[in-house]
Amino acid sequence: MFNKKEYHPKWSLIRRMILLRRALNRCEFCDAPNGEFIYRIEKNKPYWAPMPEGLETEAMDLDGTKFTRILLTIAHKDHNKDNNIFTNLVALCQRCHLKHDIRQHIMSRKYGRKWKKNQFSFTFTI
Ligand SMILES: [Zn+2]
Repeated sequence: MFNKKEYHPKWSLIRRMILLRRALNRCEFCDAPNGEFIYRIEKNKPYWAPMPEGLETEAMDLDGTKFTRILLTIAHKDHNKDNNIFTNLVALCQRCHLKHDIRQHIMSRKYGRKWKKNQFSFTFTI
């Protein structure tokens, strides 16, 4: 869930710069086009195809799962929302963003929302 307080004050500008200037409004992992309805092809690159022409968008709910409207969001590669250097940011579709965050989601569920990567690292001294 998006909590504005957790993000950089100029987040909407940063987001736009990444989305439009660098990613050219496409997912930087699977190349899916922002705002378009697509058909997912699991396990085969490029993982998606455009929705067939002539198909009404209302029809996509008939079987429920096959067509997705791409909504790009910005992910932090290191999962640290304070690290907003452009090389740490990536424009991703819902599917790629979820895949990218899945370990974080699992650990958050297990250890609570405040869990952060490397929080439980140990140093051994002899
Ligand atoms: Zn993607």
